[in-house]
Amino acid sequence: MGFVRGREVKMVLNAPLQDPIKYKLMDYEVSLRRAEANLIEVEPLSQWQHDESVADRVATASHDPMPAEEGEVFRKDKIINVALIGNPNCGKTSLFNIVSGAHEHVGNYAGVTVGAKAGTVKYRGYKFNIVDLPGTYSLSAYSPEELYVMRYLNQEMPDVIVNVVVASNLERNLYLTTELIDMNRSMVIDLNMYDELERSKAVLDYEQLGRLLGVPVVPTKASTGWGVNKLLDTVIDVYEMKNRDVRHIHVKMRPEIEDGITRVKDIIKNDPSVSEHFSPRYLAIKMLEGDPEVKTLLESADSYPEIVKTREAETRRIEEDLKEDVAAAISANKYGFIQGALAETLEGDLLQEEKTTRIIDAVVTSKVFGFPIFLCVMFLMFWATFQIGNYPMEWIESLVAWISGLIGEHMTDGPLKDLLLDGIIGGVGGVIVFLPNILILYFFISMMEDTGYMARVAFIMDKLMHRMGLHGKSFIPLVMGFGCNVPAIMSTRIIESRTSRLITILINPFMSCSARIPIYVLLVGAFFPAHGGLVFFCLYFLGIIVAVLTAKLMRRFWLKTDETPFVMELPPYRIPTMKAITRSMWDKARQYLSKMGGVILVASIIIWALSYFPRYDMEQVPESYRQSALADMPEDIRSQFDASQQDELVLNAYQQENSILGHIGKFVEPVVRPMEFGWKTTVSLLAGAAAKEVVVSTLGVLYVGEDDEQMISERISTPSPLTGEPPFTPVKALAFMVFVLLYFPCVATLAAIARETESWKYALFSLSYNTLLAWVLAFLTFRIGMLF
Ligand code: GDP
Ligand code: MG
Repeated sequence: MGFVRGREVKMVLNAPLQDPIKYKLMDYEVSLRRAEANLIEVEPLSQWQHDESVADRVATASHDPMPAEEGEVFRKDKIINVALIGNPNCGKTSLFNIVSGAHEHVGNYAGVTVGAKAGTVKYRGYKFNIVDLPGTYSLSAYSPEELYVMRYLNQEMPDVIVNVVVASNLERNLYLTTELIDMNRSMVIDLNMYDELERSKAVLDYEQLGRLLGVPVVPTKASTGWGVNKLLDTVIDVYEMKNRDVRHIHVKMRPEIEDGITRVKDIIKNDPSVSEHFSPRYLAIKMLEGDPEVKTLLESADSYPEIVKTREAETRRIEEDLKEDVAAAISANKYGFIQGALAETLEGDLLQEEKTTRIIDAVVTSKVFGFPIFLCVMFLMFWATFQIGNYPMEWIESLVAWISGLIGEHMTDGPLKDLLLDGIIGGVGGVIVFLPNILILYFFISMMEDTGYMARVAFIMDKLMHRMGLHGKSFIPLVMGFGCNVPAIMSTRIIESRTSRLITILINPFMSCSARIPIYVLLVGAFFPAHGGLVFFCLYFLGIIVAVLTAKLMRRFWLKTDETPFVMELPPYRIPTMKAITRSMWDKARQYLSKMGGVILVASIIIWALSYFPRYDMEQVPESYRQSALADMPEDIRSQFDASQQDELVLNAYQQENSILGHIGKFVEPVVRPMEFGWKTTVSLLAGAAAKEVVVSTLGVLYVGEDDEQMISERISTPSPLTGEPPFTPVKALAFMVFVLLYFPCVATLAAIARETESWKYALFSLSYNTLLAWVLAFLTFRIGMLF
C-alpha cells in the first residue's frame, strides 16, 4: 500500500480515542492502529538525506516492440472478454454499471465489490463480456481479493484488461499497473475520476504517459459516463492490435535485481511444461518476491527444483548486495519507475481535493465533534425515515383503501372477491404503503456510503468496536444492516480477520432491517402515536445492545481473538452525482416492488388460502361452540348486532379457528402463551420467516375488518366483537415488537449466513440463538410492562 523504503510518512490525525491514527503517504491517507503501526520500521528523515536518493534509481523503459502473434491480428469472432482491474474504490463498479447497465453496489470505501460480477454489452458490432473484479493494491497472494484476481487472470484469460486508475492518486494506483505490465497482457488504462484531476491545478499529459507505459490511457468519469465510449473504442483497437501506443516494455529494475530475474526467467522460459498464461518475466519476479500462489502454480513444472535452487541463490545474493529484502527492493524499484514516468508527464499539484477532505475530516473525526456528529446523522436518518415518510405513506394508504372500497362495492361475493380483498389487498396492500419510509432510509445509507462518510465512521468507531473484540470495519456492515441484512452480511468480506467477520455476520440480524419497519410503524401508530420516536429509538437501541453483548460473549467463550491489522483507506470525500443517487433509489424501489409482487404476494395468498379452507357453514358449527361464543360476547357489543349478524361472527371465528392455519397456529401457540400472543399473532411470526414484511401482511389477512376500508392498524386495536378485547394491547404490542426485532432471521438472511460462513451450522445457530433470546426478552418486556 505504499509503505516502502524511502517514502515519507506523516501523521495526520488521531482518532477521538487516540487510536487508530491516520497517516499520509504518497498523496493518500490510511489509518493504522498503534499496534500495527509499530510493525512498520520508520527511519528519521535525517538519516535518509545521506542515503542514495530514490529518484536516482528511476529506471527507464526499454523499447522492444510488442511481439505480434500470428493469426491473432484479425479474429473472425467479435467477442471481447474484458476484465476490470484496479485498486479498491477507483470506480470499477461505477464503470461496470454504466457500460453494462447493471446495478451493482457502489460505495466510497474499499472492499465494496466481493467476488466477480459479469455483464455483457454490444458496441460497434462487438460483444463485450465484462467482468468487475474486487479491488486490489497489487497481485500478490496476501488478501483473498488479490488471490481471487490472480486466479481469475490465470484461469479465464481475458482478451483485454482494463486497468482502472484514479487520476488524482496516480502514484499508488500505477503500482498495480506495473505488475500488469510484467504480465504482458493486452491492456488499456482507464484514467478514471478525471473530473478530480481537472478540478485540481495539475495537468497530466496522459497520452505521453500512455506512450511511456506502452499502454493506451483513456480519461473517463465513470460516475457520469463521460469518456466511456472512447474507452470502449480503445479496447477494440487494442484487441484488433491497431493501437499505436501498445508496445511491450519492461519495468526495469536495478542491475542486481535484473540479473536475478533473468536467471530465473531463463529457466522458466525454456521449460515447456510451465503454463503459458503468465509471462516468464512476471513469474520470475513473483518467484523472487516469494509469492506462495506462483510457487504452487510452478510446482508441477519439471524444472521446479532448479527454479527454487536458483531463486534461493539469487535472493541471497541480492539481499547481500542491497542489504534489503528482495520484495521490498522490487517494490521500491517499481515506485521509482512510476515516479520517473510521472515526472515526465505530470505538472503541478494534485492536492486540491485533499484540502477540502482534510478540513472536513478535522471536524467529523475530531475528539469533540466526532461522535456527536455521527449520532446526529443517525438521528436525522431515523427521524426522516419515520416522520417525513409518514406523509407519502398516508397517500398510498388512502389509495389502497379506495381500491378495496371499489372492489367491495362492485364485485359479487364469492371466494374470488375474498381472495382479492382479504388475501391480496389485505396482505400486499398492508405492506406496500411503507415504500416511502424504506426509500428514505436507503437514501441516507447510500449518501453515507457514496460521500465517504461511512469510512470515517469506521475510523472513529474502531476503538469502541475493538472493545467488543471487533474492528472499525465491522461497523459498516452493521449500519448497512439497517437497510437489509443480506447485502450487509455479504459486505463483511471487507473484514480480513476470520473470527471478526464471523461475529459481525452473526450479530447482523440484530440490526433492525427495513423489512421490520412496517411492523413497528403499524404497532407504534396504533398504540404509541404520541411517543413514536422514543419507541423506535429504544427498539433500534435494544438491537444494538443485544448485538454488542452477543459479540462480547462470543469473544469470551467461543471465538478467541485473531488480530489482523486495521488498514483502512480513507478516501477523499466525493459529492455523489444525482444520477448515481436516483439510480440507486430506483433500484431499491424496484426491488421492494418486486418483493411485493413475489414472495409477499405468494405468502399472502398461501396464508389466506390456509385460513380460508376448509369451508364451513352454519350447520357444521357445533351448537356448544355457538353457545359458548355467544356467552363470551360482552352484553354491550351483543346488543349492537341482530341474531343473524351474531351467527355470522360466530361462523367467521369458527371458520378461522378450524382452518388449516388455525390448527397450525394453535399447535405452536403454547410456546408463546406466556406473552399471550394468541394463535393469529403466532402464525404471523412464523410467516415472517419468508420475509419480515409478511408478518404485517399476515396480520392483515387474519384480522378481517368490519368493512373493506378499515386499515389494519384499526383492526388490531379495536375490541373484537366476539370477546370484547382488542387483539393487541400496548404492552403486548411492545413485547411483540421486541420479539420481531430479535427472533429468527428471514430465509434470505439465513441463506446469506450459510453462504458466507460456508456452513449451515451458523445459520442454524443464528436461528435458534436469536429465537431463544427473542423469547426471553419479549417475556421480560411483557411481564414488566404488565406491572405498570
Ligand atoms: P470500486 O471499488 O472500484 O468498484 O469503486 P466504486 O465504483 O464503488 O466507486 C467508488 C466511489 O467513487 C463511489 O463513491 C463513486 O460514486 C465514485 N466515483 C466513481 N467514478 C467516479 C468519477 O469518475 N468521478 C468521481 N468524482 N467519482 C467517481
Ligand atoms: Mg466495486
